[in-house]
Amino acid sequence: MSLVMPAPDPATLAKRAEIVAALRAIVPGEGVIDDIESLRAYESDGLTAYRQPPMVCVLPETVEQVAAILRWCHGNRVKVVPRGAGTSLSGGALPLADGVLLGMARFNRVLDIDYADRVAVVQPGVTNLAITCAVEDAGFYYAPDPSSQIACTIGGNVAENSGGVHCLKYGLTTNNVLGVELVTMEGDVIRLGGRGLEPAGLDLLGVIVGSEGLLGVVTEVTVRILPRPQTAQALLIGFPSVESAGQCVADVIAAGIIPAGMEMMDRAAVHAAEDFVHAGYPLDVEALLIVELDGPVAECGHLSGEVERIALANGAVSVRASVDEAERIAFWAGRKAAFPAAGRLSPDYYCMDGTIPRRRLPHVLNRMNELSGQYGLGVINVFHAGDGNLHPLILYDANQPGQLEAAEAFGADILRLCVEVGGVLTGEHGVGVEKRDLMPVMFSEADLAQQQRVKCAFDPELLLNPGKVFPELHRCAELGRMHIHRGEVPFPDLPRF
Ligand SMILES: Cc1cc2nc3c(=O)[nH]c(=O)nc-3n(C[C@H](O)[C@H](O)[C@H](O)COP(=O)(O)OP(=O)(O)OC[C@H]3O[C@@H](n4cnc5c(N)ncnc54)[C@H](O)[C@@H]3O)c2cc1C
Repeated sequence: MSLVMPAPDPATLAKRAEIVAALRAIVPGEGVIDDIESLRAYESDGLTAYRQPPMVCVLPETVEQVAAILRWCHGNRVKVVPRGAGTSLSGGALPLADGVLLGMARFNRVLDIDYADRVAVVQPGVTNLAITCAVEDAGFYYAPDPSSQIACTIGGNVAENSGGVHCLKYGLTTNNVLGVELVTMEGDVIRLGGRGLEPAGLDLLGVIVGSEGLLGVVTEVTVRILPRPQTAQALLIGFPSVESAGQCVADVIAAGIIPAGMEMMDRAAVHAAEDFVHAGYPLDVEALLIVELDGPVAECGHLSGEVERIALANGAVSVRASVDEAERIAFWAGRKAAFPAAGRLSPDYYCMDGTIPRRRLPHVLNRMNELSGQYGLGVINVFHAGDGNLHPLILYDANQPGQLEAAEAFGADILRLCVEVGGVLTGEHGVGVEKRDLMPVMFSEADLAQQQRVKCAFDPELLLNPGKVFPELHRCAELGRMHIHRGEVPFPDLPRF
């Protein structure tokens, strides 16, 4: 592991038996896991290059148990790492050797569905896809659709502000979450937002979505559900160059068309996906766009025609429209399987996630190819072209000495490039440990200090998911905080005004 995590505290490790006993008193039965073999199941998330078993894992079932665990850990200065399904690609759920891993898998119930208000209230361990499954018989769905949706949880989606191919039109998690119940590190249960569209007070919900498990543990989520569009059609459009495909994307948006999804794959990704799932992709193109239009039948037909016209004007060499639902799903199958397809090309791959202004796409892809030659590692590209969110997959072999380090250095260069052209470090996978040390490339010291003051307001002892997101955690006192909890004013002898 080339990344430095906070050193385990020997005093905490020495108290392990006491910590396990305290957790068992809160969560009886099989909810506390402390044998090393079982803990290995939790040693990493989707960023598998980094791993270490947690000190102990606890799987609470009730909000009261979550609150009691956090209150006890806070009182005893024990670190806590929340975890959903462990599919994070940025190491957000990477355990700490001296920390409690708080698994939210047992919070797996859909609590309420209200079609009139178009909301669903779910526990955080419910998978993304299970929300759609719960409402689809009534003609509804939950729009954000990460490729991992069969496994990832809505709690993880909230923490990472996850996206998916349909977020171009329907928004990311933050645009589809109306409220959460959250337990703070001190064990207080708070509610932010609700069923209404315009919550009162500060927009703290906006702060929580995307906070990567650093501010509190989400124990309930209220999401917006949408009626299924009357119809959807996908177009497969092949281009002779990445430049022409990129220009087509820009022209479609400039024409005022917001497709339900607009994804691009480069030649290598097209070949990998086609070999894997036989989606019917053309193999003689340098770039492939999948554009999905949805809505009423007449609107969808009109917009498909418009997109085809714009594509041909940009030199498209092939255009194929799905003729039925089975073919539309087949078109997407290749894109959705692009990551596992990369796994067939190379023993390991490293999925990056950065965002750039759409018009800089050709420059960034060319530069990426140069870097690929420089590092001697292959790269294939799939991306959410509509919103400029890149997912380069760097191919490497962890068993070859130096290749992991080279892949990481290559990835860091790609992210620096994203920032250099006016983009940002992450699109939807979060910062976690992966991009933590690159935060100063994007943010000034003052920016980071201000963000950390928010962290201090929620978790003054810095016990929740430390080692993630911030390259260096300053003690809250250094940032000028004064925290008052339950009326206990620190330094009561000081005069106040
Ligand atoms: C094959 C594959 C494809 C993917 N495709 C996409 C994609 O298309 N779009 C996308 O956005 N992401 C994608 N991801 C990344 C990942 O699935 C998402 O980040 C997802 O939201 C993580 O959810 P999880 O339940 O697995 O969370 P975990 O990995 O368990 O945790 C992620 C973060 O959330 C925190 N967390 C989890 N639960 C809670 C809670 N209840 N309260 C507070 N904090 C919590 C953790 O501490 C951690 O920081 C993909 C991953 C894989 C492996």
